Amino acid sequence: MSPTLLQRLWIPQRRGQLQPAAGLHAYDQAEEGQPATRYHLRVDPDGGGLLVVNATACAQLSASGVLIAASLLQGQSDEAVLKKLAQRFDGGAPAQQRQDVAQMRGMLHTLAHPQGRFPVFNLADPSAQPAPLMPPFEATLPLAGPDQLKPLLARLWQAGIVHVTLLTPPAPAPAALVAAVQQATAAGLICGISGRASDLAADHLLDDLIAAGLDHLTLAYASPRAELHDSLYGAGDHALAEALFARTEALALADVAQMPLIAATVDDLDATLARLLALRVLNVRFFAIAGRGQDDDGAIPAASMAQVAADVEEAAERAQVLYLWQPPALRQPDLTLAEQVRRGPRCASDVAIRVEPEGAVIPPRGPHRVAGNLLRDEWPAIWQDAAFKAYRSRIERPTRCLTCPGLAICAADCPREPAGWSQD
Ligand code: SF4
Repeated sequence: MSPTLLQRLWIPQRRGQLQPAAGLHAYDQAEEGQPATRYHLRVDPDGGGLLVVNATACAQLSASGVLIAASLLQGQSDEAVLKKLAQRFDGGAPAQQRQDVAQMRGMLHTLAHPQGRFPVFNLADPSAQPAPLMPPFEATLPLAGPDQLKPLLARLWQAGIVHVTLLTPPAPAPAALVAAVQQATAAGLICGISGRASDLAADHLLDDLIAAGLDHLTLAYASPRAELHDSLYGAGDHALAEALFARTEALALADVAQMPLIAATVDDLDATLARLLALRVLNVRFFAIAGRGQDDDGAIPAASMAQVAADVEEAAERAQVLYLWQPPALRQPDLTLAEQVRRGPRCASDVAIRVEPEGAVIPPRGPHRVAGNLLRDEWPAIWQDAAFKAYRSRIERPTRCLTCPGLAICAADCPREPAGWSQD
């Protein structure tokens, strides 16, 4: 759905209690002879929301868009939806509302048959249209035992966070991974796993994860040069990653490559994306490790970050892959470069949060500040904590500058500015 249509669908006046209740709503719709389509509709307290379809496509909706989508997903007729719109909103022209309902029907169909296969989006540019940061859509959570995970997953659903990505530790027990995915899907969440191929290559593990309900898999992929990739992720990991990507293609599982951006990998950008395309990997997350410019130890110097970001975005557009910026990380001198690369970004994106197994919630960028505990604190209090306020104040301020090219990454924060990186 285009931003123009989103704006046009947004009619600010409210009346009555017709809007779906704030929170998460799930719908399954089956067409004859087709597998059921799974819709998650998140309704935010302001009435707007987010629609995620089959864990593979998503759209941000206005308040009237939410009302139309919820009504259509409940199977209501166009006439019934138009009646609700007339009751709920002032100022909407009937012809326009009829057109909006027809467009939403079309959008629900389009989102159920997306060209891409993963809900990838970078933040919109706030300098083009100042807007508050969307509440988080995803949680990044290290794998934990079933007793720890169960209440965390339930709290994520209550908080309206529809999507969880589990981080794979070194040499995990395959049964623990499968059980975690089962728990997440039983809780109603979209579930992904992210990690190294070496930790996910056990016999039948991928099949078992898919049977448990896995929606997508993110694998580290540094370079088409096996020796460079293996120097970061371990001997043999490159071959295992390529073999796993072949399996995800054969099994029609949504897959994502996570490419670390360090001094040694940025020269390979075009070759890396070409190799990923040959492997039929169409979704790429970029994760930069950057240094302040004194002793960068293999990281990208702050002064080079804007140029690297421009090179990345141009290469991704040339290759026509869907790309997502992950929050850059400040080089941690207490870790080797390979250790930090393997640790990965703090969060999957700027519409994600980090949740630790004991419940601590940390914003995607800035110092490692705990904003609250998901198990003890209500989500609105966590979202309004000083740690998130500081994060939002940086994200929501205009960053577009005349001296630099227009980059998607700048919508979140200036890539040259260490204060906007995650600092762990
Ligand atoms: S935020 Fe501004 S200064 Fe920083 S890279 Fe983007 S355009 Fe350039």
